[in-house]
Amino acid sequence: MTAWFKRQKRKVTTTEKKSVPDGLWEKCPKCEEILFKRELIKELMVCPHCLFHFRLDSGEYLRILFGDGKYEELNPHLRSADPLSFKAKKSYPDQLKAAVVKTGSADVIQTYVGAVGKRTVVLGVMDFSFIGGSMGSVVGEKISRAVDYAMQRHLPLIMICASGGARMQEGVYSLMQLAKISAKLARFSKSGGLYISILTDPTTGGVSASFGMQGDVILAEPGALIGFAGPRVIKQTIGEDLPEGFQRSEFLVEKGFVDRIVHRNEMKETLGKIIEFAHDGEVAVA
Ligand SMILES: [Zn+2]
Repeated sequence: MTAWFKRQKRKVTTTEKKSVPDGLWEKCPKCEEILFKRELIKELMVCPHCLFHFRLDSGEYLRILFGDGKYEELNPHLRSADPLSFKAKKSYPDQLKAAVVKTGSADVIQTYVGAVGKRTVVLGVMDFSFIGGSMGSVVGEKISRAVDYAMQRHLPLIMICASGGARMQEGVYSLMQLAKISAKLARFSKSGGLYISILTDPTTGGVSASFGMQGDVILAEPGALIGFAGPRVIKQTIGEDLPEGFQRSEFLVEKGFVDRIVHRNEMKETLGKIIEFAHDGEVAVA
């Protein structure tokens, strides 16, 4: 055997593999870069290499839009009932309790009044990590009250959407929320109110079929899955391959369902411009 197949040095030193504490690093699912979590948080959970937008919880959106400014939560006391005595693997009340512990929130949506730039707005933020962002009667009631609050005070309404659809544990009560919210938003629109919806990953099912798509202006984060039924269900139903990028924000802008894609670090500024434009019609949205 020739020399170069033989290990010449007897003692090969290897560096000890350092263990990485859990949660310190995050792998980008799009470009597969390993990202330092602390840096990623500074970048509003957007990959600096490929601009992939990681999902955010509602608290992080509050920091993005309200910053250090004052804001107040509206109707924080609302809780889900269990009208169907629903039980699958777990009972519905147990599932709710577990979700509250996991997220620290009382339900999927939190509604607030606070200032974005110079204007006071009413804001709703959904959290997908709370039972898949499912829309039950609490979501319906909170949005309904937020719309009333905005209507009475002539304030713009902003909804940050993230949802897998209706909450099956509440059955038909959940589906009724589509009609309830849609009716309220129609009244808000007739009264001259400005409603901006922001679709984040994912916005599907009953939310896309109601207030997600009912904004006067519909914005979306880059690469978000937006649709009614998921791509797998559609593919199985029609038995055909779906086009590249189907149901992603970019595809929906092209088809006219979404007005504009907004990068997370431009969200506050863009909202400020739209609100100013609607208010006095003079500021151009670049
Ligand atoms: Zn990336």
